[in-house]
Amino acid sequence: MPANLKSIQLSRNNKNLPIITSLEIIDIAAEGNAIGKKNDLVVFVPHAIPGDIVDVQIKKKRSNYLEGVVLRFEKLSPLRIEPQCEHFGVCGGCKWQDLPYENQLFYKEKQVKDNLKRIGKVDEGEMFPIIPSDKKYYYRNKLEYTFSCSRWLTLEEIGSDTEINNRNAVGFHIPGLFDKVLDIKRCHLQNDPSNDIRLALKAFAEEQGFSFCDLRMHTGFMRNLIIRTTSTGEIMVIMSFGEDNPVDIEKTMDFLNNKFPEITALMYVVNLKLNDTIFDLPIILYHGKDHIMEKMEDLHFKIGPKSFYQTNSEQAYKLYCVTREFAGLKGGEIVYDFYTGTGTIANFVAKNCKKIIGVELIKDAIEDAKINSQINNIGNTSFYAGDIKDVFSSKFIDEHGRPDVVILDPPRAGIHENVIDCLLTTLPEKIVYVSCNPATQARDIALLNEAYAVEKIQPVDMFPQTHHVENVVLLRRKE
Ligand code: SAH
Repeated sequence: MPANLKSIQLSRNNKNLPIITSLEIIDIAAEGNAIGKKNDLVVFVPHAIPGDIVDVQIKKKRSNYLEGVVLRFEKLSPLRIEPQCEHFGVCGGCKWQDLPYENQLFYKEKQVKDNLKRIGKVDEGEMFPIIPSDKKYYYRNKLEYTFSCSRWLTLEEIGSDTEINNRNAVGFHIPGLFDKVLDIKRCHLQNDPSNDIRLALKAFAEEQGFSFCDLRMHTGFMRNLIIRTTSTGEIMVIMSFGEDNPVDIEKTMDFLNNKFPEITALMYVVNLKLNDTIFDLPIILYHGKDHIMEKMEDLHFKIGPKSFYQTNSEQAYKLYCVTREFAGLKGGEIVYDFYTGTGTIANFVAKNCKKIIGVELIKDAIEDAKINSQINNIGNTSFYAGDIKDVFSSKFIDEHGRPDVVILDPPRAGIHENVIDCLLTTLPEKIVYVSCNPATQARDIALLNEAYAVEKIQPVDMFPQTHHVENVVLLRRKE
């Protein structure tokens, strides 16, 4: 078997389930699913790529499609390349490493086109070629690793006679298995010292005999590790402990502080809850500053331990440039920035308009947005916390003025229909819709179609080696 398929765990043949032999993979559909066709029926096949010919076992039958798993690769696609990462195929991230980057871009662009056509019924607008990422790896500014005493074992390990004593792991969850963690040797997503910190911390904790989290029993001292980096060279590390043991906490934090003096914001949190989120917990500053700073053009953004910031900073910059260009501001406009997060887009375009109002669900993010305006001496922004579907109303419009442009950057679920209805009565001249999910974006565009025409479409690749794609659409009010 070629090296790049070694790590794909082929499924075992289940004699009771049907098999389709010699299925040619012809395309990649939504959510990065590879597909083949058998008697006009679509078959979804994970881990395959176009050009592969596979034997597939059918696991699920639906009225208009089948879901299968690969039993055997009869022929490998000529497109295939060698993945960079030794964890490929087992780790949930970077699933497209076996597909050349140009092909990844092709399928991302296609996903946007197909969704707009099929769901959005859009046949107008100028579509620009996807903006690629200069960095194909090491593009993330934030990673979160999990400590676990129940390391994921490979089939080879399970099959071998050697007794496995140490099952500690620090890495990522195996997709679909909350209690199993893949021990990561090297992750290709975040620049050093990300890998060095994780590996050194694991070695230190083992040497000290500290317990790693038992994700089923919710016990164990070492729990999570968050590492955030910036283009300005600052590094934030937040260690999450599952037990309130001041002596061992101090030992661990001292170790990190001495071993990695380049960490500029060293923090920890004691998390005795069942879930991993640290948003509702006090974060304790151990050494350095309580934030890191990111820079974009002449703007500075303060990022606290709980602040959201787009995870690929360089591509975020390109995304915001497209957003600003599509908004086409001349200086006199009133702009709304919905789903503003920490106000990054609002602050980025503020100097091009009369005033901009950001709305966001999370209160802390709104506080960050205000601070970001202050430190950049921006006086024409205002920010409000709340659910857009409740906040966006005629009262809000009376208070802030009718918007000329509305920028939308919702999460994957897209926009609530109340917000669509309110847009259809408010009728701003332009809507700039930034989306991380082309399917919900297309759905929302179809709903806006009675009053808005699609003028421009610009996909941006924020996440190389994955099927994810970001897309910006400029909608203009119909005359
Ligand atoms: N535009 C920002 C953040 C986009 S992420 C940036 O580029 O940095 C989407 C944001 O929408 C998140 O911050 C999330 O908290 C917020 N959000 C999700 N649902 C919301 C809702 N119903 N009302 C207001 N904000 C919401």
